[in-house]
Amino acid sequence: MINLVDLQRQFQAIKEEVFKEIEKVYDSGQYILGPKVLELETKIAEKLGVSDAIAVGNGTDALVMVLDALGIGAGDEVITSPFTFFASAEAISRVGATPVFADVDPETFNLDPGKTAKAITEKTKAIIPVHIFGQPADMDEMNALAKKHGLYVIEDACQAFGAYYKGKRAGSLADVACFSFFPTKNLGTIGDGGIITTSNPELAATLRKLRMHGTSKKYYHDAIGYNSRLDEIHAAILLVVLEKIDKWNSKRQEFAEQYRTELSSLSGLTCPKASADRSHIYHLFCLQSDKRDDCLQVLKDNQIASGVYYPQCLHLQEVYRSLGYRKGDFPEAENLSNTLFAVPMHPFLYKEEQEKIVQTLKTVLGGDQS
Ligand SMILES: *Cc1c(COP(=O)(O)O)cnc(C)c1O
Repeated sequence: MINLVDLQRQFQAIKEEVFKEIEKVYDSGQYILGPKVLELETKIAEKLGVSDAIAVGNGTDALVMVLDALGIGAGDEVITSPFTFFASAEAISRVGATPVFADVDPETFNLDPGKTAKAITEKTKAIIPVHIFGQPADMDEMNALAKKHGLYVIEDACQAFGAYYKGKRAGSLADVACFSFFPTKNLGTIGDGGIITTSNPELAATLRKLRMHGTSKKYYHDAIGYNSRLDEIHAAILLVVLEKIDKWNSKRQEFAEQYRTELSSLSGLTCPKASADRSHIYHLFCLQSDKRDDCLQVLKDNQIASGVYYPQCLHLQEVYRSLGYRKGDFPEAENLSNTLFAVPMHPFLYKEEQEKIVQTLKTVLGGDQS
Protein backbone atom coordinates (compact mmCIF):
# COMPACT_ATOMS: atom_id res chain seq x y z
CA MET A 1 0.00 0.00 0.00
CA ILE A 2 1.25 3.51 -0.86
CA ASN A 3 0.00 5.84 1.86
CA LEU A 4 -1.22 9.42 1.49
CA VAL A 5 1.15 10.38 4.28
CA ASP A 6 3.49 7.86 5.89
CA LEU A 7 3.87 8.72 9.57
CA GLN A 8 5.50 5.40 10.33
CA ARG A 9 8.26 6.04 7.81
CA GLN A 10 8.63 9.64 8.98
CA PHE A 11 8.94 8.86 12.68
CA GLN A 12 11.13 5.78 12.08
CA ALA A 13 13.57 8.04 10.21
CA ILE A 14 14.09 10.20 13.31
CA LYS A 15 13.45 7.58 15.98
CA GLU A 16 16.93 7.54 17.54
CA GLU A 17 17.12 11.31 17.88
CA VAL A 18 13.58 11.53 19.22
CA PHE A 19 14.03 8.71 21.75
CA LYS A 20 17.10 10.42 23.16
CA GLU A 21 15.10 13.60 23.67
CA ILE A 22 12.15 11.74 25.16
CA GLU A 23 14.46 10.06 27.64
CA LYS A 24 15.83 13.43 28.71
CA VAL A 25 12.31 14.72 29.33
CA TYR A 26 11.41 11.51 31.17
CA ASP A 27 14.37 11.94 33.49
CA SER A 28 13.89 15.70 33.98
CA GLY A 29 10.77 15.54 36.13
CA GLN A 30 9.27 18.51 34.21
CA TYR A 31 6.39 17.50 32.00
CA ILE A 32 4.14 20.44 31.20
CA LEU A 33 5.12 23.97 30.08
CA GLY A 34 8.76 23.44 31.02
CA PRO A 35 12.07 24.32 29.35
CA LYS A 36 11.41 22.35 26.14
CA VAL A 37 8.17 24.23 25.50
CA LEU A 38 9.96 27.52 26.11
CA GLU A 39 12.75 26.49 23.72
CA LEU A 40 10.20 25.51 21.06
CA GLU A 41 8.33 28.80 21.47
CA THR A 42 11.56 30.78 21.18
CA LYS A 43 12.82 28.89 18.13
CA ILE A 44 9.49 29.10 16.31
CA ALA A 45 9.11 32.84 17.03
CA GLU A 46 12.64 33.37 15.69
CA LYS A 47 12.09 31.25 12.61
CA LEU A 48 8.84 32.97 11.68
CA GLY A 49 10.04 36.46 12.59
CA VAL A 50 7.47 37.27 15.28
CA SER A 51 7.90 38.50 18.85
CA ASP A 52 5.88 35.75 20.52
CA ALA A 53 4.83 32.13 20.19
CA ILE A 54 2.44 30.52 22.67
CA ALA A 55 2.24 26.73 22.65
CA VAL A 56 -1.21 25.27 23.33
CA GLY A 57 -3.07 21.95 23.33
CA ASN A 58 -4.03 21.81 19.64
CA GLY A 59 -4.79 23.95 16.59
CA THR A 60 -8.50 24.20 17.32
CA ASP A 61 -7.86 25.52 20.83
CA ALA A 62 -5.42 27.99 19.32
CA LEU A 63 -8.19 29.43 17.12
CA VAL A 64 -10.74 29.45 19.96
CA MET A 65 -8.38 31.14 22.41
CA VAL A 66 -7.32 33.77 19.87
CA LEU A 67 -10.94 34.70 19.14
CA ASP A 68 -11.66 34.77 22.88
CA ALA A 69 -8.58 36.91 23.61
CA LEU A 70 -9.63 39.38 20.91
CA GLY A 71 -12.99 39.74 22.65
CA ILE A 72 -14.96 38.17 19.81
CA GLY A 73 -18.22 36.49 20.84
CA ALA A 74 -22.02 36.59 20.68
CA GLY A 75 -23.38 39.05 18.14
CA ASP A 76 -20.11 39.20 16.19
CA GLU A 77 -19.43 37.85 12.72
CA VAL A 78 -16.18 36.30 11.51
CA ILE A 79 -15.56 35.61 7.83
CA THR A 80 -13.79 32.42 6.78
CA SER A 81 -13.60 29.96 3.91
CA PRO A 82 -16.30 27.35 3.28
CA PHE A 83 -13.55 25.12 1.89
CA THR A 84 -11.43 24.14 4.88
CA PHE A 85 -11.31 21.73 7.78
CA PHE A 86 -14.33 22.19 10.07
CA ALA A 87 -12.29 23.60 12.96
CA SER A 88 -11.75 26.94 11.16
CA ALA A 89 -15.49 27.66 11.51
CA GLU A 90 -16.10 25.57 14.62
CA ALA A 91 -13.81 27.87 16.63
CA ILE A 92 -15.93 30.87 15.58
CA SER A 93 -19.10 29.11 16.73
CA ARG A 94 -17.40 27.92 19.94
CA VAL A 95 -16.91 31.51 21.15
CA GLY A 96 -20.56 32.31 20.33
CA ALA A 97 -19.86 34.32 17.16
CA THR A 98 -21.35 33.60 13.74
CA PRO A 99 -19.24 32.17 10.91
CA VAL A 100 -19.85 33.97 7.64
CA PHE A 101 -18.55 32.29 4.51
CA ALA A 102 -17.24 33.77 1.27
CA ASP A 103 -16.33 31.81 -1.86
CA VAL A 104 -12.81 30.74 -2.77
CA ASP A 105 -10.51 31.36 -5.71
CA PRO A 106 -10.86 28.38 -8.11
CA GLU A 107 -7.10 28.28 -8.81
CA THR A 108 -5.59 28.57 -5.33
CA PHE A 109 -8.61 27.26 -3.36
CA ASN A 110 -8.04 30.11 -0.89
CA LEU A 111 -10.58 32.66 0.35
CA ASP A 112 -11.27 35.18 -2.47
CA PRO A 113 -10.53 38.76 -1.30
CA GLY A 114 -13.21 40.31 -3.55
CA LYS A 115 -15.88 37.96 -2.26
CA THR A 116 -14.63 38.48 1.30
CA ALA A 117 -15.09 42.25 0.90
CA LYS A 118 -18.72 41.70 -0.09
CA ALA A 119 -19.36 39.59 3.04
CA ILE A 120 -18.29 42.35 5.46
CA THR A 121 -21.10 43.86 7.56
CA GLU A 122 -21.27 46.13 10.60
CA LYS A 123 -21.05 43.03 12.77
CA THR A 124 -17.84 41.70 11.20
CA LYS A 125 -14.96 41.62 13.67
CA ALA A 126 -12.37 39.41 11.99
CA ILE A 127 -11.35 37.48 8.90
CA ILE A 128 -9.77 34.02 9.13
CA PRO A 129 -8.01 33.23 5.86
CA VAL A 130 -6.91 29.59 5.76
CA HIS A 131 -3.65 28.75 3.95
CA ILE A 132 -5.34 25.77 2.43
CA PHE A 133 -3.24 22.69 1.62
CA GLY A 134 -0.10 24.69 2.44
CA GLN A 135 -0.34 27.70 0.12
CA PRO A 136 -0.63 31.13 1.81
CA ALA A 137 -3.83 33.05 1.15
CA ASP A 138 -3.93 36.57 -0.40
CA MET A 139 -2.72 38.26 2.77
CA ASP A 140 -2.00 41.76 1.43
CA GLU A 141 -5.58 42.02 0.22
CA MET A 142 -6.94 40.59 3.48
CA ASN A 143 -4.88 43.01 5.60
CA ALA A 144 -6.00 45.93 3.42
CA LEU A 145 -9.66 44.97 3.93
CA ALA A 146 -9.07 44.67 7.66
CA LYS A 147 -7.43 48.07 7.84
CA LYS A 148 -10.25 49.69 5.91
CA HIS A 149 -12.98 48.17 8.09
CA GLY A 150 -11.20 47.94 11.46
CA LEU A 151 -11.05 44.13 11.58
CA TYR A 152 -8.58 41.57 12.89
CA VAL A 153 -6.95 39.09 10.56
CA ILE A 154 -6.22 35.64 12.01
CA GLU A 155 -4.20 33.26 9.87
CA ASP A 156 -5.35 29.66 10.04
CA ALA A 157 -1.85 28.42 9.23
CA CYS A 158 -2.46 24.87 10.48
CA GLN A 159 -1.54 23.41 7.09
CA ALA A 160 1.25 25.82 6.22
CA PHE A 161 4.20 25.66 8.63
CA GLY A 162 7.25 26.91 6.77
CA ALA A 163 5.49 28.42 3.75
CA TYR A 164 6.53 31.86 2.53
CA TYR A 165 4.45 34.77 1.27
CA LYS A 166 6.41 37.61 -0.40
CA GLY A 167 9.53 36.71 1.57
CA LYS A 168 7.81 36.37 4.95
CA ARG A 169 6.78 33.19 6.71
CA ALA A 170 3.18 32.11 7.16
CA GLY A 171 2.43 32.85 10.79
CA SER A 172 3.90 36.36 10.56
CA LEU A 173 1.49 37.76 7.98
CA ALA A 174 -1.37 39.15 10.08
CA ASP A 175 -2.36 40.12 13.64
CA VAL A 176 -2.02 36.58 14.87
CA ALA A 177 -1.75 33.03 13.50
CA CYS A 178 -2.65 29.49 14.58
CA PHE A 179 -0.78 26.26 13.88
CA SER A 180 -1.56 22.62 14.61
CA PHE A 181 0.98 19.92 15.45
CA PHE A 182 -1.45 17.07 14.71
CA PRO A 183 0.65 14.13 13.45
CA THR A 184 -0.24 14.52 9.76
CA LYS A 185 0.55 18.23 9.62
CA ASN A 186 3.89 19.17 7.99
CA LEU A 187 5.29 20.03 11.42
CA GLY A 188 3.65 17.35 13.55
CA THR A 189 4.22 15.31 16.68
CA ILE A 190 3.02 11.88 17.82
CA GLY A 191 -0.03 13.40 19.51
CA ASP A 192 -1.91 16.67 19.73
CA GLY A 193 -0.38 20.12 19.96
CA GLY A 194 -0.62 23.64 18.57
CA ILE A 195 0.95 27.08 18.69
CA ILE A 196 -0.14 30.69 18.31
CA THR A 197 2.22 33.27 16.81
CA THR A 198 1.94 37.06 17.01
CA SER A 199 4.00 40.21 17.20
CA ASN A 200 1.52 41.79 19.62
CA PRO A 201 3.05 41.25 23.10
CA GLU A 202 -0.13 42.32 24.88
CA LEU A 203 -2.20 39.73 23.02
CA ALA A 204 0.54 37.17 23.72
CA ALA A 205 0.34 37.89 27.46
CA THR A 206 -3.43 37.40 27.42
CA LEU A 207 -3.03 34.11 25.56
CA ARG A 208 -0.38 32.84 27.99
CA LYS A 209 -2.83 33.54 30.77
CA LEU A 210 -5.79 31.97 29.00
CA ARG A 211 -4.03 28.68 28.24
CA MET A 212 -3.53 28.14 31.97
CA HIS A 213 -6.87 28.78 33.67
CA GLY A 214 -6.65 32.56 33.33
CA THR A 215 -3.76 32.80 35.74
CA SER A 216 -0.58 34.84 35.58
CA LYS A 217 0.28 34.22 39.25
CA LYS A 218 -0.21 30.69 40.56
CA TYR A 219 -3.61 30.20 42.23
CA TYR A 220 -4.76 33.77 41.46
CA HIS A 221 -7.18 33.96 38.53
CA ASP A 222 -8.22 37.07 36.65
CA ALA A 223 -9.88 35.50 33.64
CA ILE A 224 -11.95 32.41 32.83
CA GLY A 225 -9.40 30.49 30.85
CA TYR A 226 -8.69 27.05 29.46
CA ASN A 227 -6.50 24.11 30.22
CA SER A 228 -4.72 23.96 26.89
CA ARG A 229 -1.00 23.42 27.12
CA LEU A 230 1.73 21.59 25.26
CA ASP A 231 3.48 18.67 26.95
CA GLU A 232 7.27 18.72 27.30
CA ILE A 233 7.49 15.39 25.50
CA HIS A 234 5.79 16.81 22.41
CA ALA A 235 7.87 19.99 22.53
CA ALA A 236 11.01 17.82 22.60
CA ILE A 237 9.82 15.82 19.57
CA LEU A 238 8.78 18.97 17.73
CA LEU A 239 12.23 20.50 18.29
CA VAL A 240 13.71 17.55 16.39
CA VAL A 241 11.16 17.90 13.58
CA LEU A 242 11.62 21.68 13.45
CA GLU A 243 15.28 21.14 12.48
CA LYS A 244 14.15 19.13 9.45
CA ILE A 245 11.00 20.94 8.40
CA ASP A 246 12.48 23.11 5.65
CA LYS A 247 14.25 20.12 4.13
CA TRP A 248 11.08 18.04 4.36
CA ASN A 249 9.01 20.81 2.78
CA SER A 250 11.55 21.04 -0.08
CA LYS A 251 11.15 17.31 -0.62
CA ARG A 252 7.40 17.80 -0.94
CA GLN A 253 8.02 20.59 -3.46
CA GLU A 254 10.26 18.29 -5.51
CA PHE A 255 7.58 15.61 -5.58
CA ALA A 256 5.03 18.27 -6.57
CA GLU A 257 7.20 19.37 -9.50
CA GLN A 258 7.56 15.78 -10.62
CA TYR A 259 3.79 15.27 -10.48
CA ARG A 260 3.38 18.41 -12.58
CA THR A 261 5.95 17.29 -15.13
CA GLU A 262 4.25 13.93 -15.53
CA LEU A 263 0.60 14.87 -15.23
CA SER A 264 -0.02 18.43 -16.39
CA SER A 265 -0.43 17.48 -20.05
CA LEU A 266 -3.11 14.86 -19.38
CA SER A 267 -6.56 15.81 -20.57
CA GLY A 268 -9.25 15.99 -17.93
CA LEU A 269 -6.79 16.55 -15.09
CA THR A 270 -5.64 19.81 -13.47
CA CYS A 271 -2.60 20.11 -11.24
CA PRO A 272 -2.68 22.56 -8.31
CA LYS A 273 -1.39 26.04 -9.14
CA ALA A 274 1.35 27.63 -7.09
CA SER A 275 1.40 31.44 -7.16
CA ALA A 276 4.78 32.97 -8.01
CA ASP A 277 5.03 35.32 -5.03
CA ARG A 278 4.58 32.64 -2.36
CA SER A 279 5.68 29.09 -1.64
CA HIS A 280 3.32 26.14 -1.49
CA ILE A 281 4.47 23.50 0.98
CA TYR A 282 1.97 20.85 -0.14
CA HIS A 283 0.43 19.68 3.08
CA LEU A 284 -1.79 17.98 0.52
CA PHE A 285 -1.34 17.61 -3.23
CA CYS A 286 -4.82 17.78 -4.71
CA LEU A 287 -5.55 17.07 -8.35
CA GLN A 288 -8.79 18.13 -10.00
CA SER A 289 -10.78 16.01 -12.42
CA ASP A 290 -14.33 15.53 -13.62
CA LYS A 291 -13.45 11.84 -13.67
CA ARG A 292 -12.64 11.81 -9.96
CA ASP A 293 -14.57 8.60 -9.23
CA ASP A 294 -12.66 6.72 -11.93
CA CYS A 295 -9.35 8.04 -10.62
CA LEU A 296 -10.18 7.08 -7.03
CA GLN A 297 -11.21 3.60 -8.16
CA VAL A 298 -8.09 2.86 -10.17
CA LEU A 299 -5.86 4.16 -7.38
CA LYS A 300 -7.64 1.91 -4.91
CA ASP A 301 -7.37 -1.08 -7.25
CA ASN A 302 -3.62 -0.50 -7.33
CA GLN A 303 -3.14 -0.18 -3.56
CA ILE A 304 -2.58 3.56 -3.72
CA ALA A 305 -4.22 5.67 -1.05
CA SER A 306 -6.15 8.79 -1.98
CA GLY A 307 -8.39 11.20 -0.15
CA VAL A 308 -11.17 13.69 -0.78
CA TYR A 309 -10.56 17.07 0.88
CA TYR A 310 -13.21 18.22 1.57
CA PRO A 311 -16.26 16.20 0.52
CA GLN A 312 -18.73 18.64 2.11
CA CYS A 313 -18.31 22.42 2.18
CA LEU A 314 -18.80 24.02 5.58
CA HIS A 315 -21.83 26.13 4.57
CA LEU A 316 -23.64 22.88 3.70
CA GLN A 317 -22.82 21.04 6.94
CA GLU A 318 -25.86 19.79 8.83
CA VAL A 319 -24.82 21.64 11.99
CA TYR A 320 -24.82 24.93 10.07
CA ARG A 321 -28.29 24.48 8.55
CA SER A 322 -29.54 27.29 10.81
CA LEU A 323 -27.16 29.75 9.13
CA GLY A 324 -29.44 29.55 6.10
CA TYR A 325 -26.94 28.80 3.34
CA ARG A 326 -27.96 26.75 0.32
CA LYS A 327 -26.36 24.62 -2.32
CA GLY A 328 -25.16 26.95 -5.06
CA ASP A 329 -24.21 29.80 -2.71
CA PHE A 330 -20.47 29.20 -3.21
CA PRO A 331 -20.11 27.52 -6.61
CA GLU A 332 -16.30 27.54 -6.65
CA ALA A 333 -15.98 25.84 -3.26
CA GLU A 334 -18.73 23.36 -4.14
CA ASN A 335 -17.04 22.53 -7.43
CA LEU A 336 -13.79 21.82 -5.59
CA SER A 337 -15.54 19.50 -3.17
CA ASN A 338 -16.89 17.57 -6.17
CA THR A 339 -13.71 17.35 -8.25
CA LEU A 340 -10.57 17.48 -6.06
CA PHE A 341 -8.71 14.45 -4.80
CA ALA A 342 -5.44 14.11 -2.92
CA VAL A 343 -2.70 11.72 -4.02
CA PRO A 344 0.23 10.54 -1.84
CA MET A 345 2.46 13.46 -0.84
CA HIS A 346 5.01 13.36 1.96
CA PRO A 347 8.78 13.73 2.33
CA PHE A 348 9.35 9.98 2.58
CA LEU A 349 7.67 8.96 -0.66
CA TYR A 350 9.92 6.82 -2.88
CA LYS A 351 10.51 7.83 -6.51
CA GLU A 352 9.29 4.39 -7.65
CA GLU A 353 6.10 4.87 -5.68
CA GLN A 354 5.46 8.22 -7.32
CA GLU A 355 6.15 6.68 -10.73
CA LYS A 356 3.55 3.98 -10.02
CA ILE A 357 0.99 6.62 -8.98
CA VAL A 358 1.61 8.59 -12.16
CA GLN A 359 1.38 5.53 -14.43
CA THR A 360 -1.79 4.40 -12.69
CA LEU A 361 -3.48 7.77 -13.25
CA LYS A 362 -2.39 7.72 -16.90
CA THR A 363 -4.35 4.51 -17.46
CA VAL A 364 -7.60 6.38 -16.68
CA LEU A 365 -6.83 9.79 -18.10
CA GLY A 366 -5.08 8.66 -21.26
CA GLY A 367 -3.51 10.85 -23.90
CA ASP A 368 -1.97 14.28 -24.02
CA GLN A 369 -4.08 17.36 -24.48
CA SER A 370 -1.95 18.53 -27.38
C1 LIG B 1 -5.75 20.58 11.44
C2 LIG B 1 -6.46 21.87 11.24
C3 LIG B 1 -7.06 22.55 12.30
C4 LIG B 1 -7.18 21.99 13.68
O1 LIG B 1 -6.02 21.58 14.28
P1 LIG B 1 -6.08 20.47 15.47
O2 LIG B 1 -4.72 20.49 16.02
O3 LIG B 1 -6.44 19.18 14.84
O4 LIG B 1 -7.09 20.94 16.45
C5 LIG B 1 -7.62 23.79 12.03
N1 LIG B 1 -7.63 24.31 10.80
C6 LIG B 1 -7.09 23.67 9.75
C7 LIG B 1 -7.10 24.31 8.40
C8 LIG B 1 -6.50 22.42 9.93
O5 LIG B 1 -5.99 21.78 8.87
